[in-house]
Amino acid sequence: MRFPVVRQQVKPALPFIARCWRTLLTLLLFSQCCGAFAAAAGPEKALSQYKLDGWQTEQGLPQNAVSALQQTSDGYLWVGTLGGLARFDGVRFTTFDPAEFADIASLPVMGLMQDAQGTLWIGHNKGAARYRDGKFERAFAAPAKADQRVWSFAQDRAGVVWAATNHGLARWENGRATFYGKAAGLPTERLRALAFDRDGVLWIGTSGGGLVSYSAGQFRVFNPANGFPHLQVRAVLADPAGGVWAATAGGGLVRVRQGQFKTYTVADGLPTDQLTALARDARGQLWIGTWGGGVSRMVGERFSSLASANGLAGDHVWSLQADAHGEVWIGTWVSGLVRLHERPFDWLGVPEGLSNDNIRSVLHARDGVTWLATAGGGLNRIEGNTVTTLGKKQGLPSDEISSLLETRDGALWVGSYTAGAARLAQGRVAVYGSAQGLPSAEVRVLFQDRQGTIWAGTQSGLARFTGAGFVPLREAGAPTGSVAAIAEERDGTLWFGTAGEGLARYRGGVFKTLGTADGLLSNWIMSLHLDSAGSLWIGSNGDGLNRLRDGRLSSIRPADGLWDGTCLGILEDGAGQLWVTSNRGFFRAALSELNAFADGRAGKVASTGYGPGDAMRSTTFAGGLQPAGALDQAGRLLLPSTKGLVIVDPRRLPPAERPPGTRLERVLVNGGGSGRPATAGLTLPPGAATLAIQYSAVTLLDAERVRFRYQMEGLTRDWIDAGMNREVSFPALSHGVYRFRLRASLDGKRWSEPGPALAIVIQPFFYQTTWFAVLLTGATLAVLLGLFRLRLHRLRLRQVHMERLVAQKTEALRQANEHLSRLSFLDGLTGLANRRRFDQVLREEWSRACRAGTPLALIIADIDYFKRYNDALGHPEGDRCLAAVAGVLISHARRAADLAARYGGEEFVMLIPGVDQAAALLVAESLRAACEALAIAHPDSPVAPVVTLSLGVAVCIPSNEAAMPSLLRDADTALYRAKHEGRNRVRG
Ligand code: GH3
Ligand code: MG
Ligand code: MG
Repeated sequence: MRFPVVRQQVKPALPFIARCWRTLLTLLLFSQCCGAFAAAAGPEKALSQYKLDGWQTEQGLPQNAVSALQQTSDGYLWVGTLGGLARFDGVRFTTFDPAEFADIASLPVMGLMQDAQGTLWIGHNKGAARYRDGKFERAFAAPAKADQRVWSFAQDRAGVVWAATNHGLARWENGRATFYGKAAGLPTERLRALAFDRDGVLWIGTSGGGLVSYSAGQFRVFNPANGFPHLQVRAVLADPAGGVWAATAGGGLVRVRQGQFKTYTVADGLPTDQLTALARDARGQLWIGTWGGGVSRMVGERFSSLASANGLAGDHVWSLQADAHGEVWIGTWVSGLVRLHERPFDWLGVPEGLSNDNIRSVLHARDGVTWLATAGGGLNRIEGNTVTTLGKKQGLPSDEISSLLETRDGALWVGSYTAGAARLAQGRVAVYGSAQGLPSAEVRVLFQDRQGTIWAGTQSGLARFTGAGFVPLREAGAPTGSVAAIAEERDGTLWFGTAGEGLARYRGGVFKTLGTADGLLSNWIMSLHLDSAGSLWIGSNGDGLNRLRDGRLSSIRPADGLWDGTCLGILEDGAGQLWVTSNRGFFRAALSELNAFADGRAGKVASTGYGPGDAMRSTTFAGGLQPAGALDQAGRLLLPSTKGLVIVDPRRLPPAERPPGTRLERVLVNGGGSGRPATAGLTLPPGAATLAIQYSAVTLLDAERVRFRYQMEGLTRDWIDAGMNREVSFPALSHGVYRFRLRASLDGKRWSEPGPALAIVIQPFFYQTTWFAVLLTGATLAVLLGLFRLRLHRLRLRQVHMERLVAQKTEALRQANEHLSRLSFLDGLTGLANRRRFDQVLREEWSRACRAGTPLALIIADIDYFKRYNDALGHPEGDRCLAAVAGVLISHARRAADLAARYGGEEFVMLIPGVDQAAALLVAESLRAACEALAIAHPDSPVAPVVTLSLGVAVCIPSNEAAMPSLLRDADTALYRAKHEGRNRVRG
């Protein structure tokens, strides 16, 4: 069925069509792709709302078969693989090869548990081991030579640890293991899983013998003969409400409670009946690992699953662990470790059933329906949990929708990029293009004023709807270029925001234009919002916000505390907050604070941003169109982005980021071995030592964003920025007493309190000690006294010799210091890595990328007209500027592998492994914008009033060592082009 398309004039409808727009629309919608998505509003999130991260051997995992997972109370995740054990801090996998237990590093691990005393139990293929306070010890071996695997552990209320082994049930008490086998009543000795239920009954999952319970010295067996569906049980998990859950390899999931079994299988929504692992997350949701079907989550009686088709690294899950922060860790059979974590905001995009991810504008209609304009996918209509798509096929003029409007008569207006506008009402679509009076087919904003007049802002000026068609406004002062936003004041004054022509006012039939000369931050306007107090907020394309109140303009820039200067969409929530979208996320600020600043009553505004660190699908939001955001009836913000619609509930925001605690891990002396734990202080023998200190932060979730600062008392008084590095080296420390302290931060603003200091004593040689100096002086005096008269002459000679010796020692010390600073990796002025460090990392990343066949991106950034800056403001100001620009690079080097460095003078480089050209260009553009947003005044720059960057980007997939210089050359050539083509831009 097609919609009748009426052009120009809405004729009286045919009776059968006119009867009911709603009926037709309903029919139409059912003929369309009609998908249901899991409501993002419920307490549980659709699995597509989770962010997936993965780690494999390339990231340091000992092996890609992850067989056991356990998060310990100190925040580490212990990862058991078939290639040995590792401890994960969110960034780095640490392996162990202690002298007292060398083979622990490579033994295949089957099971892990932390007991109530904090001891980690490790089940491996030759028995069980224990780890506590940095030390490993053997616990027990199975009472047989072959197949000594220990699969899992459980601890009873009395503190006794039980283990499921391939030779029966082990009971560990007072340092000894006792084994229970068939003779004791077990149906098989091949056991796999253990759990104590709420009432203290031990449940045992077996291989081939079904499920077994053990209490009061009695084993009871449950198998198909008495109602338990399967003989192979792979995992058992206690339920907080009593009883257990059992995962079977072939018979699905079984709820065991009060002697009753309830089985869930494929018929109930599980992806397969071959199950492997169970875990319960902080919300009480049950997670089920499957063999071949990925991971499944059970909420109520419903299952939803995530498999390789939706981005999971592998479908064969071996182990699961859910942690306190809503993260779920998945160990796969051959695809490494995967983390699922909830995004802080709900997203609607293609995974949830939209026709297109690129949302341009959003309208929440009075009947509760949400309409989304997509770039290429037509119009999406969301009612409840159902998405329907309308496009060209249904009579819309184009699938490239730009703007939306609901008029007071209930009609829906749809503006397009390519073919004018359409009015949908009473079951009919009327299309208006250039022939119907629109000055351009590209419609950016549709607006209805208080009089009821409908306005269209197009690429080539304004037009007014007459009821039959549009009439362009050609009056003096009317905008002739692109109109991006329209707002109306309470007194009926209309405001038009234009792209380049400033802000046009229309009052009493007369246009007047305000521009930068009148106090507007920019003539390029992206958004307008009339707030509840009647002030007009004007969003610029990079320079911040203007407020117009009582005819006066005030401005608020990023330098005044605004989180971003690009204001693509402006919304006001019910709690007095203004929300602004930009192209690196969105932010909020209290209207009261913005007003206080605009009135001159405050010197700064506070704004909170949600951006790249918040696990968003995209941080680029739609703008230059209307409506670039909406509030729904529940008070939630609907924000259109290039990767779907973000739904933000202002009452459920992610908590403010508290800086994570720090942990000192290991100290390596003179580069030797695996080092020693950095728990107690250390004393080293005389002789200059090279120290490396490894440390981490107590957060798995935000590990990749943590930055560190350290202080080495005895060497420096200041806190030194270590960026994302988790190791710092001190080459050639001379004798003395040092104290190393560490702080961490997520946002670079709030830093954790320094943790306990690590004391390091490097002992002096005897000739460096005070007593030696005293002794030497005494002896010299004695000689002087004794031989004064007779040997005055020779004494003088001796003194000369001594002085030379001192001079030599001083020179040696000076050289050692110089060596020390040469070995240092940090640039003194900016705190960034220096050229030496960059060269080294480039070589390492190059060969890593060579081996992995992954791309390597390089950005070279050069400050524009920096010589002039120095000339105009002086060298010290120039230095400050360099440090500020370096800050931009530091904040953009987000992943642990990214490296920002000072290449020399006013040139910086950024090395980003694993990203393609498009992503690298985005980073470069974001650097450029962020530098500009610093708004450091540059009075003598011909390109901008502020300090700007030109950037060159090069990306390649390295194939051999020899080609490395070409990456630098390409980036340099691109930089040269950026300079040549006008500066303040990115070229690649
Ligand atoms: P272009 O846009 O072509 O890059 O022009 P430019 O002036 O930035 O380039 P040019 O290479 O002519 O000048 C670079 C200037 O950077 C020269 C030098 O005075 C200044 N500079 C280099 N290192 C430092 C430093 O450590 N501190 C300060 N204050 N200035 C530096
Ligand atoms: Mg230069
Ligand atoms: Mg320059």
